[in-house]
Amino acid sequence: FNVPTPENEPILGYAPGSKERELLKAALAEARSKKGDIPMYIGGKAVHTDKKGTVTPPHDHQHVLAQYSIGDKTHVQQAIDAALAAKPQWENLPWEQRAAIFLKIAELISGPYRYKLNAATMLGQSKNAYQAEIDAACELIDFLRFNVSYMADIYKQQPPVSPKGVWNRVEQRPLEGFVFALTPFNFTAIAANLPTSAALMGNVVVWKPADTQVYAANLLMEIFREAGLPDGVINLVYVDGPEAGEVIFNSPDFAGIHFTGSTAVFQNIWKTIGTNIHKYKTYPRIVGETGGKDFILVHGSADAEVSSTAIIRGAFEYQGQKCSAASRTYIAKSLWPKIKELMLRDLATFKMGGTEDFSNFINAVIDDRSFTKLAKYIDQAKADKGVEIIAGGNYDKSKGYFIEPTVLVVDDPKYTTMSEELFGPVLTVYVYDDADFDQVLTLIDTTSGYALTGAVIAQDRYAIDKASYALRNAAGNFYINDKCTGAVVGQQPFGGARGSGTNDKAGSMINLLRWASPRTIKETF
Ligand code: GLU
Repeated sequence: FNVPTPENEPILGYAPGSKERELLKAALAEARSKKGDIPMYIGGKAVHTDKKGTVTPPHDHQHVLAQYSIGDKTHVQQAIDAALAAKPQWENLPWEQRAAIFLKIAELISGPYRYKLNAATMLGQSKNAYQAEIDAACELIDFLRFNVSYMADIYKQQPPVSPKGVWNRVEQRPLEGFVFALTPFNFTAIAANLPTSAALMGNVVVWKPADTQVYAANLLMEIFREAGLPDGVINLVYVDGPEAGEVIFNSPDFAGIHFTGSTAVFQNIWKTIGTNIHKYKTYPRIVGETGGKDFILVHGSADAEVSSTAIIRGAFEYQGQKCSAASRTYIAKSLWPKIKELMLRDLATFKMGGTEDFSNFINAVIDDRSFTKLAKYIDQAKADKGVEIIAGGNYDKSKGYFIEPTVLVVDDPKYTTMSEELFGPVLTVYVYDDADFDQVLTLIDTTSGYALTGAVIAQDRYAIDKASYALRNAAGNFYINDKCTGAVVGQQPFGGARGSGTNDKAGSMINLLRWASPRTIKETF
């Protein structure tokens, strides 16, 4: 069988007066007015409990969009049991049949569910229309379609050499057990990709999304079901993280984790898995994308407009809440006055507010915890010597968790905000002497323990070459003359090493191979 050749899903513009904008507005109005009780899904059954959480838009935290049912350890165990019960039939289904389900999910999201899923992401995660569109529609659809084609390539791989009288072959089996998918609030596409990529390869999954992602996760599950995903293949639970972990990581059938989230949580999980290693039937696959402290380096030969746009978009789109967001920049002194002027010019035009008003570029940060953490860093910056705040610096959580896009300029290139991950709209600038370019490369490489994304902006080819080599381990996704966010599935496989993850490149064959366990068969005639 050949699967369709994937193409990237076109991005809708939502221009004022367009039909698509009207449809999105209608979906927003419907989602805003719909109150309900969001269930967990275990073995295909909707499970309601007495313990409730609430879903509120981060930009309007007093408005309750829905309630959701919170489960406990029993539900996690039930989800594991349901997954294992579904396993024999699911893993024996021919891969083209599995492919068809995931292609249908892509089709449903590209069509009738696009506006609903975008609306859920805009309300639940405070993404503006464009940010929702490139995530919940385009990236998500791309993950599904490209992964199906990578899966087909894996199953159709060239067999090993077979000398006369022998037939050698390699069979790709699903893992022996279940996969645990733990998904972050910041991308609906990642919420879909982590469980579906493992399921696509014939695995069964227990999926726990972030509390702040329940709204979109619930809708995704409904779409999976409508596309014909059999009961029990993906089980969705809303359970406190450590409580869920206790059941998952003690299960002999735990066969792998597909994770995106914080470095600290991932390291704890890894330790727990290590402690429990003797309990498992098989060594679990550990696949994680964690934090970032992503950089943009501007060389003296750079174009000032290109630099300013890359920095502003890289730092402030979706309030800087992307693992890939630019949070530290190193700018050549000769260009700084011009770049500063351009940055301040553009920042002055940004409106901040809720996502339903399409003219707002900046929306809220995800929750109170994040707001408080960011406010603390800003207050500290105000108090510290050697730090100048040239933009923003204000915050207000009376209606929503709003933090102004904030730019700090620091004298010390190792200042805390140059090395610690903040995950919000706070950018730190260090201005260096043009002659110190080589030293700055070393600084970038050694200032943070992360290595997710980074960019160099330059026209001088020698400078580009030098930076590419010196920073070869400082970023898993390296950009030349562009911002460091917005990797496109099928174009820039995404992921980093060091403290940023296992670098198993989301949306690539490398990632899918982690969800398969090959068996080599030699037959002698
Ligand atoms: N893939 C996204 C990007 O390139 C970032 C994903 C994340 O934040 O985890 O911007």
